[in-house]
Amino acid sequence: MICGYCYKSHIVTKHDVSHWWNCPPDTNYVCSDECYTKLEKLVKNRTWMDHKPEAIFGKKKHKPSPNFEKKK
Ligand SMILES: [Zn+2]
Repeated sequence: MICGYCYKSHIVTKHDVSHWWNCPPDTNYVCSDECYTKLEKLVKNRTWMDHKPEAIFGKKKHKPSPNFEKKK
C-alpha cells in the first residue's frame, strides 16, 4: 500500500480515503493524520491532480476516477 499524499510505500494505513476518489473501500490510504489533512485540502481545492508527480503517477497501476478527469 502506498500513501496517497507522500507516496511512501509499505505504509501503516492510517486512514481509508478511497471515497475521495469514488473508489471502493480499501483501495486508497494515507499514512498519517498530517497526510490526511493535506490531501483533503488538495481534494477539496481540486488541486490534487496538480500535486501528483508525473513520474510516480505514470507508474500507478490504477487510473484516477473518471469524475476527476471530467472536472479538470
Ligand atoms: Zn503519507
